[in-house]
Formats: sequence, C-alpha cells, structure tokens
Amino acid sequence: MTNEARIGRIYEQVVRRNPGEAEFHQAVKEVIDTLEPVLVKHPEYAEHKIIERICEPERQIIFRVPWQDDAGEVQINRGFRVQFNSVLGPYKGGLRFHPSVYLGIVKFLGFEQIFKNALTGMPIGGAKGGSDFDPKGRSDGEVMRFCQSFMTELHRHLGEFTDVPAGDIGVGAREIGYLFGQYKRMTNRYESGVLTGKHPKWGGSLVRRESTGYGTVYFVDEMLKARGQSIEGQTCIVSGSGNVAIYAMEKLQRMRGHVVACSDSNGVIHHERGIDLELVKRLKEVERRRIADYAEFHRDATYLPGGSIWNIRCDIALPCATQNELDEAAARTLVANGCVAVAEGANMPTTPAAVRVFQEAGIAFGPGKAANAGGVATSALEMQQNASRDTWSFEHTEERLQQIMGGIHRHCHEAAAEFGSPGNYVLGANIVGFRRVAEAMLAFGVI
Ligand code: NDP
Repeated sequence: MTNEARIGRIYEQVVRRNPGEAEFHQAVKEVIDTLEPVLVKHPEYAEHKIIERICEPERQIIFRVPWQDDAGEVQINRGFRVQFNSVLGPYKGGLRFHPSVYLGIVKFLGFEQIFKNALTGMPIGGAKGGSDFDPKGRSDGEVMRFCQSFMTELHRHLGEFTDVPAGDIGVGAREIGYLFGQYKRMTNRYESGVLTGKHPKWGGSLVRRESTGYGTVYFVDEMLKARGQSIEGQTCIVSGSGNVAIYAMEKLQRMRGHVVACSDSNGVIHHERGIDLELVKRLKEVERRRIADYAEFHRDATYLPGGSIWNIRCDIALPCATQNELDEAAARTLVANGCVAVAEGANMPTTPAAVRVFQEAGIAFGPGKAANAGGVATSALEMQQNASRDTWSFEHTEERLQQIMGGIHRHCHEAAAEFGSPGNYVLGANIVGFRRVAEAMLAFGVI
C-alpha cells in the first residue's frame, strides 16, 4: 500500500470510529495529510502503526456534574477529560468551560495538544478537558459550586505525575483556584503541580497569564525576522478579548505594533488611534463586561455588532478567540488588504481552505501548535518551579519563554526546509511534533 493510501485509510477509520466529531476529524486530517514524507523516511512508523495509535486516545472520561444555582435549582452539566497521549510525560492540557463543548471539541484540542507539547521540548503528554457549563453571567458562588462538583469526580484521574490540567476558554485564575481548593480537600495533599495557571500568590508561575499571547507575538517576530521584516510600525488586529488576545495585544504594543481592533463573540471594536489596552483589561478582566462597552469610553472608536474583524485593513492578523473563526472569504479579504503575517493564538481558528489561501499568497502563517505553544511551555515551567518549591522572577521566566519560542520557530523552519517546503510552518510543526512522539512510542513498544 502506498503511504498516501495508508493515510487516506487511517482518516476514513477515524471518521468511522468517531462519528459526528467534525472538529476532531478536521484536526486529524490537518496533521496526517502532512506526514507522507515522514513515512517515506521512516517506514518503521507505518510498520508499528504509530499514526493509528496516536489517533486513538489512551483514555476518555465523561462524567455528570450536578450543582445548585443561586436560586436553589439543580443544574446538570457534562464533564470531559480526554487523556490522549502520555509518551513524553504526564497528560497536560487545559480545561474549557463553554456551552459548545462536547466530545468532538475536547478530542480535537487534545489531539493538537500532543504535538504542541512535543514541540516545546518539555516532558509533557497531551490531554484536554472541560464542560458545557457556561460561566458567563454566573455568580462567583455558582462558579465555585460548579468547579467543586467537577473536581469531585475528576480528582481521581489527576496527579502531578499523571495528569495536570490548566485553563482555556472560560477557565482563568478564579476557576483554577476553586478547582485546586477542591482537589486539595478531596486528596488531603497540597500538590501544587497538579494544576497550572494558579495565581502567583499560591504556587502559580509569573508570566503564565501572559505566556500564550506573548509567545504568539514572539513567534510572529521570528517569522518576520526570517523575512527581513519586523513588528514595529505594523498595523495589527487581534480577535477575541480574553486571556490570549489581551496579552498578544500587550506584547504587540510593546514591540511598537499598532493594534487597531479586537472583539468578543458579540462584536468588534475598531479604534484607528490604537486600542486602549488598560480599558480592555478593566472591562474584561475586572468587571467581566462586553467589548461593546469600550465605545462608551472612546467616542472615536467604532463598535461593529456581529461584524467580522477580518474586514479591517492590517499587516498582522492574530486570531485569538476560537476554532474556525477565520474562513476562506476572510482570508481572501486579508490577503487583498495587504496582510503579511497571520499567527494562531487560538487553537485551529483558521479553516483548512483559509490556510491554503495564506500559503498560496506566500503570507507568513504560524499554526497554533507552534505559535500558541508558549502557554503550555510556561505551564511546564510552573510544574518545574512547583517540583523544586522555587519561584522564578518575571524577567527570568519571560526569558525562558522567549528562548522556547525561538527554538520552536527554528525547529519548524528547519524541518519545513528539510522536507522540501521552506517557510511552510504547518508542515514543519506537524513533522517536528510527530517525530518526537513517534520516536518515544517506538522505544516504549506496543502500549
Ligand atoms: P478566554 O475565555 O479568556 O477568551 C476567549 C475569547 O474568545 C473571548 O473574547 C470570547 O468572547 C471569544 N470567543 C469565544 N468563543 C467565541 C466564539 N464562538 N465566537 C467569537 N468569539 C468567541 O479564552 P482564552 O483567551 O484562554 O482562549 C482563546 C483561544 O486560545 C482558544 O482557542 C484556546 O483554546 C486558545 N489557547 C489558550 C491558551 C491559554 O493559555 N489560555 C493556550 C493555547 C491556546 P466572549 O467573551 O464573548 O465569549
């Protein structure tokens, strides 16, 4: 059988065995379609069915999460943890609380996480979890009761050497605090390394909050440098206004990029004079308000309800909100408007057709696996600090993050060239991540 036919057959099997999980199918296809040249070089990967094994999670946990809201009514949500691959280290990957969460979303994120974590070069496996619980509009007490119920079941599957969750959409330091508190109570162990994204006052790493956004911008900087360009003076747009988006904007501004737009799931703020980031932080991080409210404070800013941020002219575009938010039509608009670089702060925000548009136009395109790996890399640094009961300074931790992002860029760049597609970071990231996992799987035998 040719390698192309083998890959086609693996994909068919994934679709058949995981019906209705469109995002998972998409994530698998995106990776395995780039692996043919690797199988040519390493026939042993096919012989040992490495791809087939990677596509099947090691363990999937689905559980009931009952809790009581402020009115005393019983609510029932569904919890998930997909422990995908632990060949490089304990399972590692965030928890997402959003009404759209179902098994297919968790599996797509967990699958991506395997290769992203491998790319960082740190000793961490891949996993993801979450719930269809929507924290939006819920009181602190409701969020706490939900988190306690969620952890009452999940704790038996976690441990600093077993599985180490972190945050994702809808899960920030508040939720991690409640989850950690309940884990400690259930296990009677102060096991700092069991969750990352903790507040720095009780075991969290400095820079973890900033790391995904900062890391994405470092990756953009490396891509531009490789082309003799820089961020300075470039007009930038960033979708979302959550954790990743806010700190991507902060780093862009510090590197003298001119950020003119951001968004949330209701609409877009366009502020030609430059986004007032302190205001966005206050509205989103402190007061938990909508981005629409930004326009109340800046009369020269425009709010576009339900608008597409990708229609705004820019040189650099960073999708930092959610999956499949940037489609083919949006990609064509960005290219027509002269965009030179796109990097995925979010996971799989760019549809496959949109990625092709960017690649055909010769735009520097950084896939999430590489570009947003700074978050999980800093989580691994948090685990390192917890293990040694140490606390590193902001400067030291950020320096480590920057080195790691530089290393990821270099490895992806080199692999793309080695496999005949210079500048193709999608191919480079998939191959580097896959090879690291495959080599360890071969060494461990059939498990
Ligand atoms: P947050 O919950 O902090 O923010 C998410 C942002 O995206 C909000 O502005 C939200 O708007 C917007 N958003 C969410 N869903 C949609 C939607 N369906 N349509 C439009 N906008 C939407 O999450 P994060 O910033 O942590 O995560 C953002 C992305 O980055 C996700 O893809 C996540 O997987 C990825 N990521 C996160 C990492 C991290 O360290 N946090 C690490 C690596 C990747 P609203 O408030 O209206 O919902």
